[in-house]
Amino acid sequence: MTAASHHVPGGGFRNPWPTAEGDRHTFADALRWQWQRLRHGVPPNPPSALLPLAPGAVVHPRNAAADLHVTWVGHATFLVQVGGWNVLTDPIWSERASPVQWAGPTRLVPPGLRLEELPPVDAIVLSHDHYDHLDAPTVDRLRDRFGTALRWITPLGYRDWFRSRRVEVTELDWWDRVVLEDGGRRLEIHAAPAQHWTRRTPLQQFDRLWASFALLAGCGARVFFGGDTGYFPGFPEIRERFGPFDALLLPIGAYEPRWFMRAVHMNPEEAVRAYGELGGGGVLVPMHWGTFRMTDEDVLEPPRRLQEAAARATLRPENVALLRHGETARVPVAARAGDRGKDGPAPVSGA
Ligand code: ZN
Ligand code: ZN
Repeated sequence: MTAASHHVPGGGFRNPWPTAEGDRHTFADALRWQWQRLRHGVPPNPPSALLPLAPGAVVHPRNAAADLHVTWVGHATFLVQVGGWNVLTDPIWSERASPVQWAGPTRLVPPGLRLEELPPVDAIVLSHDHYDHLDAPTVDRLRDRFGTALRWITPLGYRDWFRSRRVEVTELDWWDRVVLEDGGRRLEIHAAPAQHWTRRTPLQQFDRLWASFALLAGCGARVFFGGDTGYFPGFPEIRERFGPFDALLLPIGAYEPRWFMRAVHMNPEEAVRAYGELGGGGVLVPMHWGTFRMTDEDVLEPPRRLQEAAARATLRPENVALLRHGETARVPVAARAGDRGKDGPAPVSGA
């Protein structure tokens, strides 16, 4: 991959891989999808008993320096507690993933953790601007709870949107990083590629960047947050730069119909393949399923297919943490010879 090839001359961004073919849909494509839905229908939502909440094990206020706890709030929202740092991913606490709260995908399961129950949050990483990941009411509630010092870390193109809500952000291009330090604790947050797209209004798309993130804690723990992504050939480079990872938070849902979704959403088999290309070995924590119904597959199909794919790939059961909403995975942190520790990997560009 050539550097900066995701920048479009004159503004905006693109997916620089052949696997992205089909990432730009026409209005006619969207109509065709809706027409197919009407003709064939979609499986009904599961009864709520099949998507139970589970008690979590959030550590208040912070976990120990060598520990890693991952709590699934729902969809792509996690509380990652790593080496004494508390990091949120793609926070959404609203009832709907939508520009308005009277229409759009509604929650099948309440948030696994109430926003009021959060411990102090040090940083929030945002993968992109779709409504199921960037939720304006949640941004306001987090600002009101934690104040304007709360550290938001986004890809390029989000500053103005957040400023209009009185929130400052640190924007990162792919491969850029920020370093948080506090009393001898250290956390590097690196933005990395993903194959996806952005749009918040009908006339603007691909104008903001999308990203995944690697969290590298001073204690040696490493977490990969995949954001929203299709399967693409960028995972080995992410492993080379930041891996191997102790926890890999990967999307497994919103993949049907394939002809429409393939470029921008992995299916469970692709998530298992990505896990391997990211170095494997750590704990795969699936996300982006079961919370909001975005697409046409049966809501309970992604975890079923994930477990089948993991078994075929001979993953050990302890390498997949299929969390219920609210549940916490306590992830072992690998002891590594010659750990990068305090210095971290060499900054690559613009760091
Ligand atoms: Zn998205
Ligand atoms: Zn999404």
